Amino acid sequence: MDIADFQPKIDSIKAYVAQHKGKRFFVTSSFQTHSLPLLHILSEIFEPGDISVFMTNTGFLFPETLEFADEICARFKLPLVKLNPDQPKILQKDQQGNFLYASDPDLCCTINKTQPLNKVLGSHDIWINGVRADQSSFRKNLNVEERSKFGCTRYHPMLDWTSRDIYYYRELHNIPEHPLDKEGYQSIGCEPCTTCIKYSGNERDARWFGLNKTECGINTDLIVKESA
Ligand code: SF4
Repeated sequence: MDIADFQPKIDSIKAYVAQHKGKRFFVTSSFQTHSLPLLHILSEIFEPGDISVFMTNTGFLFPETLEFADEICARFKLPLVKLNPDQPKILQKDQQGNFLYASDPDLCCTINKTQPLNKVLGSHDIWINGVRADQSSFRKNLNVEERSKFGCTRYHPMLDWTSRDIYYYRELHNIPEHPLDKEGYQSIGCEPCTTCIKYSGNERDARWFGLNKTECGINTDLIVKESA
């Protein structure tokens, strides 16, 4: 693949942004390696300062992720906003004194991810989110545009990108990898809920390993589906 192969995909994102000129955009990122092509593309489309990158700073992220986020945003000249939860960690324990991620990970994700992001939606019009259809059966059923809360629209420009596309785009643009990739992590979220699985066919298997949970709520609770 060469740079020209990606032009139609990039033109489509450019056209969407131009069509919605004047709207208040923001993008979210986990700063995993596969999320970086989107940030790179947006850094070339938007004027400096016209879009910010939001990350949910749960307090449980790997230190490597926080440092890498700073490095990437400095390199791409994108303002970074780290969203902190309102509830202090001392109040995020169950009756046995264990952190909620151990007994009620859905509630833990709500407090640390969904609620902080929820507060951003009302002050923006378009939320750019880099989910890909090849990541899970749930994501495969998402549309390029979905309705979020408080009148905000979710735009999923990477939906038709494959992991192969991501690989070649990174190679062509010399985009670095998350520092934990070389240790064999396939998907990297919060430290307590990430497992280093080296040989799984699905990158999402590395999250909430052994639990019947595949999404944190950002891609479920913050999408408003029309009722049938
Ligand atoms: S991924 Fe785990 S630690 Fe992070 S917010 Fe969700 S349950 Fe809590």
